[in-house]
Amino acid sequence: MKASNFLLKTQKELPHDADSINASFLVRAGYVQKLLSGVYALLPLGLRVYRKIENIIREEMNDIGGQELLMNALQPRELWEETGRWEEIKDIMYRVSDDLGLAPTHEEQITDIVRKKISSYKDLPLSLYQIQVKFRNEPRAKSGLLRGREFMMKDMYSFHTNEEDFEKYYSEVTEAYKRVFSRLGLQAKVVVADGGIFSKHSHEFQVLCPTGEDTIFICSNCDFAVNKEIAEVKDGDKCPNCNGTIKEERSIEVGNIFPLKNKFSKTMNAKYLDNQGAEKEIIMGCYGIGLTRALATLVEIYFDQQNSKMPWPKSVAPFAVQIISLNKDDEAEKLYNELLDKKFEVLYDDRLISAGEKFADADLIGAPVRIIISEKSLAAGGAEIDMIGGKEIVEFSKVTEKLI
Ligand SMILES: [Zn+2]
Repeated sequence: MKASNFLLKTQKELPHDADSINASFLVRAGYVQKLLSGVYALLPLGLRVYRKIENIIREEMNDIGGQELLMNALQPRELWEETGRWEEIKDIMYRVSDDLGLAPTHEEQITDIVRKKISSYKDLPLSLYQIQVKFRNEPRAKSGLLRGREFMMKDMYSFHTNEEDFEKYYSEVTEAYKRVFSRLGLQAKVVVADGGIFSKHSHEFQVLCPTGEDTIFICSNCDFAVNKEIAEVKDGDKCPNCNGTIKEERSIEVGNIFPLKNKFSKTMNAKYLDNQGAEKEIIMGCYGIGLTRALATLVEIYFDQQNSKMPWPKSVAPFAVQIISLNKDDEAEKLYNELLDKKFEVLYDDRLISAGEKFADADLIGAPVRIIISEKSLAAGGAEIDMIGGKEIVEFSKVTEKLI
């Protein structure tokens, strides 16, 4: 991609109404555009990062047997009346008319699909997921893309004949989530949280972050971690599991997994016939990851405010390589075409702007590899490659080899 053809529009000034690090960076660097409070469009640069996040999640969900489907934003009132949630969550569900609403979650629809498709124990277990837009009426939408009114979620639902099978899958999902966050460059802790009325506990995946909205207690020494909402420990206590000390920390919730047991199958009559021909309720679990929230969390964690730099983790950077030409466009163009042939995701800044502006923008784009072609680099024998591990001059014929 050539920067002259790409919608790359950074602003020098911070947006005046930015309410968080993530919103101010993402708007200023041209990754997103705010439409209204809690509603942001992903611009081409932001969408590139978003797609990387999405694909990592999709790969890991497919790896544990998840089957992708796509449900609907528009929901009929009668389905939600079956569970009583048309009234119960009326404060967060946007209603577009007397009998239609916009989905903040999809337990009702997925249970409806499964009760119509599943009849026998032979059809189970089953795991279905989607990556889809959700709507939530947040009267005080804040924190940029961390808490939106319209946002992207991966929600997976699993269906089992019994508790043991569900528990086994719940552990598999836990491990898959750890892989997702590790691949995204987020160090997420598995935190015990409230399970609601149907289950003792659920689990949240929390990333330690001083600007986070959540408060958790973690052990300095072991994996013990609990949400403040249900904590029986406080800062400075001894860990209940080891000799470590409990610390209070701020964090951002990037995912959660939740045992639903028979909550929805019972009220919505989702049953199967066991091997004796007896009718049984399906046991369910649900598993969420906020994608736009993960994007915002990466910014909260990685953005270097002091130097105005965004060093994205390699797995999610919008471009793998950025070429900056300092008045050496012929050489730069040649290398750009070579890298394109080798299928590198490369951005070539060919714009007629100053070197300083190119470097400032490159800092906001945060490609893990930067190649500078200048009078100086040519005199030294080639292109200057700047990547983790340092800078070096590399002969043009050896550049692609160096990057692989
Ligand atoms: Zn401990």
